[in-house]
Amino acid sequence: MSKARQLAKGQPCMIGIAGTCNGDPETTVFARYPMDVYFDIEMSSDDELGAWACSACNAVLVRRPPILEEFFLQLRLFHAEGVLRTQHAIREMDR
Ligand SMILES: [Zn+2]
Repeated sequence: MSKARQLAKGQPCMIGIAGTCNGDPETTVFARYPMDVYFDIEMSSDDELGAWACSACNAVLVRRPPILEEFFLQLRLFHAEGVLRTQHAIREMDR
């Protein structure tokens, strides 16, 4: 199990969708970034590629289309940036 997944519970939400995020670290889960869905790339270690997401943000992320394509791309960006913030937070813990 990756460190990102192991440490998820109790961490701040790294997605932060305005008007959606509940900001409650107790609901935080590891939200895997689905490279296989978005890019048809199988990742052997995709357990590491994910973001800490509160239950509310995660619910939006896992809701697949049908939604407007424009919003879908925006969600992908939120998710990808969440992955970067999560990895940054983990690196900071190790310092
Ligand atoms: Zn959130």
